Amino acid sequence: MGKALQLLPASASDKALLARLEEEAGTSAKLCYQCGKCSAGCPVGFAMDNTPRQVIRLLQLGLLNEALDAQSIWICASCETCSARCPRGVDIAALMDALRREALKQGRINDKKVAVFNQAFLSGVKKFGRTYEAGLLMQHNLLTGQLFKDAELGLPMMKRGKLSILPEKIKGRDQIKKIFDRVKEQGGE
Ligand code: SF4
Ligand code: SF4
Repeated sequence: MGKALQLLPASASDKALLARLEEEAGTSAKLCYQCGKCSAGCPVGFAMDNTPRQVIRLLQLGLLNEALDAQSIWICASCETCSARCPRGVDIAALMDALRREALKQGRINDKKVAVFNQAFLSGVKKFGRTYEAGLLMQHNLLTGQLFKDAELGLPMMKRGKLSILPEKIKGRDQIKKIFDRVKEQGGE
């Protein structure tokens, strides 16, 4: 972890927020006994400022601000390896997801590119029912002012049929729309 933290009893608002995040994630950080198996198996743990075990520890200590500001929640790839390996049944991936949604809701994003990527990704899934990689790259580059970023990679991939220039739509997009509507009803973005 980075800077030293002063430990004080968690405030009532932090306790309430943790309870809500745990409810949304359907799991409890209290179950964790800090064995570190989640961190050991995380494929992107090396790039995180707080390993998955440390993020869970921050929650246990009621340090919600630190958990919400951790870069780790944006680096997490939602692969669920941690949740599958946890001997205590803590759904760490779901907690990471709940933290991401809460950080977005509170506008707590230190890196604007992360927010832009997140929005571009979700808008593609909402429209087409799956990711539209070329559109995602173009939208991201446009909004972050890096028009030709990765163009040298994108064009050869298109030529080899690895990247489609047009979006592919899935069947049952009405179901996807219902999921987004439900998330909005529940206070999500
Ligand atoms: S694997 Fe489970 S019990 Fe072990 S540190 Fe991670 S969350 Fe805690
Ligand atoms: S879900 Fe996230 S935190 Fe868990 S192992 Fe995968 S990348 Fe790491």
